[in-house]
Amino acid sequence: MMTHALKADGVLADLKRAGLKLTPQRMAIVRELADDCTHPTAQELFERLRPAFPTMSFATVYNTLDALAKLGLLGSLRLGTAVRFDPNTAPHHHAVCDACGAVVDLPAGPPLRPSVKKSIEETSGFEIHTEERTYRGRCRSCI
Ligand SMILES: [Zn+2]
Ligand SMILES: [Zn+2]
Repeated sequence: MMTHALKADGVLADLKRAGLKLTPQRMAIVRELADDCTHPTAQELFERLRPAFPTMSFATVYNTLDALAKLGLLGSLRLGTAVRFDPNTAPHHHAVCDACGAVVDLPAGPPLRPSVKKSIEETSGFEIHTEERTYRGRCRSCI
């Protein structure tokens, strides 16, 4: 899709600005993820890209994703022991299927009311920057 191609190009430009060399592997990793709304793990992306890049190491995939996440160019989401990567960097919530592990984006609601945010901060001692919810249940194919 056109929008995905544009998104990948934007991420690649930012990656270059951040001082990372645009190797064919890194470009393929970014393109693969920009097209993907399933929140894949580094391992899943590695296995998908391996046929095209048989000499590429898992570390290359992981380190590229990690660098992109640190730059805020993609989201990451820890579920259980797995870190899932997310091309959607806008604030949003997730629905997670307890049966098959599918992760789906849900639109974020209105931002936290200042009074609610203040009360959470007072109770937790945290300074709250973002709000992200996880809804758990069963997806359409697992009901
Ligand atoms: Zn499911
Ligand atoms: Zn997401």
